[in-house]
Amino acid sequence: MRVLVLSDIHGNLPALEAVLEDAGVVDATWCLGDVVGYGAQPNEAAARLRKLPNLTCVMGNHDAAAVGKIDQDAFNDEALLSLRWTINVLTPDTREFLKDLPEKIEVEGCTLVHGSPRSPIWEYIGDPYSAEVALLGIATPYGLVGHTHHPLVFYFDEHGMLTWVFPVDGQKYIIKPPVIFNPGSVGQPRDRDPRAAYAIFDPQNGVWESHRVQYDTLESSDLIQQAGLPLRHAIRLVEGW
Ligand code: ZN
Repeated sequence: MRVLVLSDIHGNLPALEAVLEDAGVVDATWCLGDVVGYGAQPNEAAARLRKLPNLTCVMGNHDAAAVGKIDQDAFNDEALLSLRWTINVLTPDTREFLKDLPEKIEVEGCTLVHGSPRSPIWEYIGDPYSAEVALLGIATPYGLVGHTHHPLVFYFDEHGMLTWVFPVDGQKYIIKPPVIFNPGSVGQPRDRDPRAAYAIFDPQNGVWESHRVQYDTLESSDLIQQAGLPLRHAIRLVEGW
């Protein structure tokens, strides 16, 4: 089974299109949340995503805030500007889609969440402590998370010590469960590599393949500026942080 794993598209349609073209034919697509927020094309990105066959998608913190499911107080000033803009432009159709997204789904031996299994909307798994708690508490062999915008793999080594790798583009990883995989962000990478990030996963054989793909970051950046969204969110796409 060839599953396309996406996360943190953030209304960036050019990045999503580049990923879909690069990934080719897949059996299913799993999206780990934050379809909207920051980017200038939330409706377009959501519509494109929804057209994909066998889509499973969970809710991210930006999705939840955009449909009023969580408080706006937790967002910083610039994220808040972007959130308010997004709330204004969302079509009823996109809002309905986002509103109905589950926070957590178990599929094919994988737990899919945006943040972490114990706190699906908010917790970042970006450090050894949160990763260890997640690995010890997970009910399935694999946990698939997003939210940090960093491609990462957490697992226990042969001595039972927590370890992690920053996966390399195009490389396959087969790791004894439990494993937490993060595909990185399609629409707003933050690891100083501006290329869109995604993964291809074969859950039956536990084969994870990280990928990066070049897209027109200037196009997405211009759209953000034309929409009057914070300049910081335009610049960071080009620089990858
Ligand atoms: Zn995000």
